[in-house]
Amino acid sequence: MLEIKGLHKTYDNQVTVLDNIDLTIHKGEVVVILGPSGCGKSTLLRCLNGLEAIQGGEIKLSGKNIAGKDANWQEIRQQIGMVFQNYDLFPHMTVLENILLGPLKVQKREKKEAVEQARQLLDRVGLLDRQDSYPRQLSGGQKQRIAIVRALCMNPEIMLFDEVTAALDPEMVREVLDVILGLARQGMTMVIVTHEMGFAKAVADRIVFIDAGKICETATPDEFFSNPRTERARQFLNIFQ
Ligand code: ATP
Ligand code: MG
Repeated sequence: MLEIKGLHKTYDNQVTVLDNIDLTIHKGEVVVILGPSGCGKSTLLRCLNGLEAIQGGEIKLSGKNIAGKDANWQEIRQQIGMVFQNYDLFPHMTVLENILLGPLKVQKREKKEAVEQARQLLDRVGLLDRQDSYPRQLSGGQKQRIAIVRALCMNPEIMLFDEVTAALDPEMVREVLDVILGLARQGMTMVIVTHEMGFAKAVADRIVFIDAGKICETATPDEFFSNPRTERARQFLNIFQ
């Protein structure tokens, strides 16, 4: 479904941040990307979503090249949903208005149908009663669940998550991870960057370990956590023990 071949990324034509990345994500698969700080995880997700230009290689979504100059990013961002560490909800809009912005303004969908879907999704994350709240009235965990609903309401084919619980107080981490686990069970295709090792193990079909801009190791969660093949991965895992 998402095919990355020979991806090369530099910032300001200087240091190589991603070096010859080959990665294929199949429909319904959950890939968790792990690696030390600065190894290029966020950059990789940003390249997949067109937020960064790439200097080499190709990215294909359902067989269609999405990294070239002629890529239609407006269309691609509807197919690839992304949630970041800092929920970027619009402060002057209610929860429901935030969620409906994309479906109504970008996708030009009928309001009744979009509202119905938004309410269903809100219900699924336990926040239907907050549809008229403003972001400032919500906790971090609630805002992050709304950010996930907002991305889902565009009916993306694949979801990208970049450390969505990193800025949360510990007691709110679980409620957000549970939403993502629920999506995995329903077969959503996802690429997840996280520092929550227990969650990574539970949610992943495959772990991709990146070090210094290169894929160092690809393994099942069981293999990776019980018997990492590379010294770099062993060192990385030691930090969490
Ligand atoms: P973390 O776990 O800390 O979030 P990461 O794996 O997500 O790290 P990236 O944010 O992708 O790492 O950064 C990879 C490298 O690219 C780092 O060396 C970083 O300093 C550099 N970098 C990131 N963004 C930019 C930018 N806009 N301009 C220049 N260099 C950048
Ligand atoms: Mg990052």
